[in-house]
Amino acid sequence: MSEPVVRRHVRVAIVGSGPAGLTAAIYTARASLAPLVIAGVPAGGQLMLTTDVENFPGFPEGIQGPELIERMHEQAARFGTEFVDENVARVDLKVRPFLLTLGSGAVVEADSVIVATGANARWLDLPSEQRLRGHGVSACATCDGFFFRGKEVVCVGGGDSAMEEALFLTKFASHVIVVHRRSELRASRIMQDRARANPKISFRLHHEVVEVLGEGAVTAVRVRDRATGVVEELPVQGLFLAIGHDPASGPFRGQLETDAKGYLVTREVTRTNIDGVFAAGDVYDHRYRQAVSAAGLGCMAALDAEKYLAERAGAPPAPAPRPA
Ligand code: NAP
Repeated sequence: MSEPVVRRHVRVAIVGSGPAGLTAAIYTARASLAPLVIAGVPAGGQLMLTTDVENFPGFPEGIQGPELIERMHEQAARFGTEFVDENVARVDLKVRPFLLTLGSGAVVEADSVIVATGANARWLDLPSEQRLRGHGVSACATCDGFFFRGKEVVCVGGGDSAMEEALFLTKFASHVIVVHRRSELRASRIMQDRARANPKISFRLHHEVVEVLGEGAVTAVRVRDRATGVVEELPVQGLFLAIGHDPASGPFRGQLETDAKGYLVTREVTRTNIDGVFAAGDVYDHRYRQAVSAAGLGCMAALDAEKYLAERAGAPPAPAPRPA
């Protein structure tokens, strides 16, 4: 068997580089644990696909998602965090130190692991949708909205993301049709009100997308009224999905406990079923899913990892953190 490209040992490996992972990095770096962040490709998590973040404390004027991530990254690097822009291909959490094999074949041996891999956008999984992905079908209005200047688009979903994406798309598109499978939206009242007040947005409630039409580019989207079964063809040039996310727990499944949807299951907030492995952010938190709550969980996972390492080394546990 050929030797792996690189093999190295770290005290803390943090998998993921969204607000949870980067906050965990800031805390463990300041605790002199020299963390390694396996950032994932693309790095930065869902905030990289967001425009205005208006609810992250400390930014009264709001901040762009990618800029917020960049600042967290800088802060983590300042205290000695190291980053690798790779994905974790597989893990072995049955051995000590834990083994994480990266996409390049490099192997990281880690005394503790913080899993902060977040969640990924969901697709409808229609063959026509997959065929036209990147050719008019997108799960990221922030990334691709720009290409739909003056065009009509469909935005699928009834949650806050769908309202946010639809509102964002009105900056470019001439009209946005929100298609939602139920007659009631799931989104918060304020987001619903904003979307309903926008003259460029209309709604097809109780409808589902059944097919995306077009060869090489979207020319129409077929939707079906779920009550009557009537199928209608909407002559739009784009289809945006905003129907939620799935946890990016893939490499850890089978070793870390997950629920039926694949979210990691934890106890005492961040502890997984394996001692020394902690979880933070959307990979297990499907309830709050906010940047600030992910950051808070990253902090907790870091403090838990620090305590675990101190206890394992026989040293007295670190004193409880004092308020800044
Ligand atoms: P979400 O709240 O889970 O909403 C997902 C929406 O997609 C639901 O309306 C759901 O329909 C629909 N959906 C799911 N699977 C579908 C499928 N296969 N086909 C058709 N429709 C489907 O997800 P989210 O909107 O991404 O929000 C996630 C969390 O982030 C929420 O807590 C939200 O408040 C928060 N968030 C907040 C903001 C903000 O405050 N600015 C912005 C974005 C997100 P049903 O309603 O029928 O289940």
